[in-house]
Amino acid sequence: MVATLRSRCVFLGAPGAGKGTQAKKVAEGARLAHISTGDMLRAQVAAGTALGLEAKGYMDAGKLVPDQLIIAMVKARIAEPDAAHAWILDGFPRTLAQAEALDKSLSGASALSHVIAFAVPEAVLVGRLSGRRTCGSCGAIWHIESNPTRVAGVCDACGGALVHRSDDRPEAITKRLEVYRSQTAPLLAYYRDRGLLREVDANRPPEVVFQELLQRMR
Ligand code: AMP
Repeated sequence: MVATLRSRCVFLGAPGAGKGTQAKKVAEGARLAHISTGDMLRAQVAAGTALGLEAKGYMDAGKLVPDQLIIAMVKARIAEPDAAHAWILDGFPRTLAQAEALDKSLSGASALSHVIAFAVPEAVLVGRLSGRRTCGSCGAIWHIESNPTRVAGVCDACGGALVHRSDDRPEAITKRLEVYRSQTAPLLAYYRDRGLLREVDANRPPEVVFQELLQRMR
């Protein structure tokens, strides 16, 4: 059990850096809203909405969904009651235009508290992404080698079927890492210049990273 954190925080890092796993855990323990743009988009795709249909092609190819769609989606989500005081943005912003839009929509007491940068070497990211399996029901994240379920293909937490995300396949992984380097990594300097960046070595066991996050998010 973790004390409530009143923080509005961005988790920044390449795909596979562990942002989703950690955000889920921190948010549950500290009663923060966990806002994952990837999860929100996958829910739209599963529900067959207009946004989901538009986003799917970009996602499967490992490309970013256009800024205006994502920005509108996040603004609406942050305006919901459970996100009034404290949240973790997981996977947003991913471009400079998104970061600027976020700055504009937050001000004064509701401004960003800090940005946690998850550092992991690229070779490690590839191994994490290609072995990753996600529960289609509860969203729990597993790995076929480093964190396998008791029964292959079945979630230990809820019994749901595990999914190999289409963008966790080799061609899409290469594209996503390239997109991260060119479009998202520049945000490290953007937030460092604003005095908001806190870097965490995320190439360590999840429990060690989790404990450090709790310290760094205060
Ligand atoms: P994630 O689960 O965060 O890795 O996101 C999966 C995919 O959703 C990404 O590869 C993008 O296609 C899309 N996506 C998620 N967040 C964003 C964002 N902030 N901007 C653009 N596309 C996004």
